[in-house]
Amino acid sequence: MRPIKAHTLRDLLECSRRVWLDAHGDVTERIEPPPSFAQARGRSFEIFARQRYGTLRPVPSATWDESVAVTRDLMTQGVRVIAGASLERPHPHHPDLLVRGRIDLLVRAAGSIRDEALYFPVEVKMVREVRPEDRLQLDCYLWLLESDREGPEQGEFWLPGRPPEWIDISPHRYDEVRLLDAFRGVGDVLRQASAPPIYLTGHCDSCPWHAHCRTAANAEGAITLLNGLSRRSWESLIAAGLQTVDQVADQPPEALRRLKGIGPATVHQLISSARALRDRDAVLLQPLPEALFRPIVMLDIETGLSFQEQGLPWSYGWSDVNGDLHAAVVARYSDADQTILPDGRPVRLLRDYAEGWRMIADYAEAHDALVYHWSGYDSGIMRQTAPPDAAEILNRRMRDLLHVFRQCVMLPVRGRSIKTVAAYLGYAYPPASDYAQAWNDYRRWLMENDRAALQRAMAYQLADVEAMLIARDWLVRRAAGEA
Ligand code: SF4
Repeated sequence: MRPIKAHTLRDLLECSRRVWLDAHGDVTERIEPPPSFAQARGRSFEIFARQRYGTLRPVPSATWDESVAVTRDLMTQGVRVIAGASLERPHPHHPDLLVRGRIDLLVRAAGSIRDEALYFPVEVKMVREVRPEDRLQLDCYLWLLESDREGPEQGEFWLPGRPPEWIDISPHRYDEVRLLDAFRGVGDVLRQASAPPIYLTGHCDSCPWHAHCRTAANAEGAITLLNGLSRRSWESLIAAGLQTVDQVADQPPEALRRLKGIGPATVHQLISSARALRDRDAVLLQPLPEALFRPIVMLDIETGLSFQEQGLPWSYGWSDVNGDLHAAVVARYSDADQTILPDGRPVRLLRDYAEGWRMIADYAEAHDALVYHWSGYDSGIMRQTAPPDAAEILNRRMRDLLHVFRQCVMLPVRGRSIKTVAAYLGYAYPPASDYAQAWNDYRRWLMENDRAALQRAMAYQLADVEAMLIARDWLVRRAAGEA
């Protein structure tokens, strides 16, 4: 029998292609993504479980068959809490398929006796709201438990609480109709002769088929490469038989406008994007705003990832009106005004994030400069965290460079993150750097005075600023016909 995971039911709600590839794809093309930062934080739940129930009995995971055998043995013994329990049961409509689930915790229900222990599943989540796909997953665990004995009707989600050291427990009731519908949906997808078309989106980042799908999308010139393509527009194009970028590039605008969910603005975006991709060249959409030629500060901030400091700036990277780069970090307990990194770069030390916003506001005001940033994230954080005097100045001066890019140019690449744009323009970020790594390095510096770690964090921070400078300069040269 071919195994499918309980996770497959979740995947069905996000991407039927993933369901198909998990069953029929070439396993050598699967690349398991590293655990996300949120997943790495899951250990606090284990501590909570120990506090609540005492000893946990983990199930070893040497082989799947062994894990299933150990889980059954522990359940037969009536062990109170089993961590990482493994269960399986044949698919109700496809006897050749075996449904498998690895459950965070199986807890013996209060009142059930050891000889006839009744267990309920606990699913640990890193999100505060339970989503439909989470419910399906827990339905599946309850259904897997049903195979052995009568089975419980209810499970629990454990969610991050407020304050952060709390865990919120959210009960879940089994819904058989919902589950059997999902099983049928999985069966329909598995019967398809070929993989469903590719729709790349945010959840692809955590999918083991991401590299495979990206390669396939590039090779096919699939429409998912188009910028400004919502799922609804994608579905309309697919339903109309428009599967490739070249097909869209050749469409008259009126033909696209007749499709469901595609308005005039979307048509313009899609055709520009298709032509840029087809011709492998940027398309200028409109003249640059005058504001791009005024004195400019490029700003990028990093914000905390711990529960206590989520959304609070800890780092400011910025360029002055001459294009020179500067860095500042929050160092609440330091008396010094600055520290010097091993590479000789000075980093200003701030008492708190309010001081960082004042620093940027004062500089911009003194030089009558506009403060450019990439996307609405930085300005949103500014509005939430800047003191009123600094916010009053920055509200007048902050501008979104991503918005300017969107309005003025279409690049022949999918996505408009500053990293994507910078890569297209030939700029390389420091290897293996991202916001989570920068946050961890900053914490390491705070706790262990590891200046090499701070240097890594600042290299990432300033790369964003440098990338924005390069993007602006390229845009100006391109508009003048020089790039
Ligand atoms: S990478 Fe995205 S499109 Fe491809 S299978 Fe995974 S979720 Fe689906």
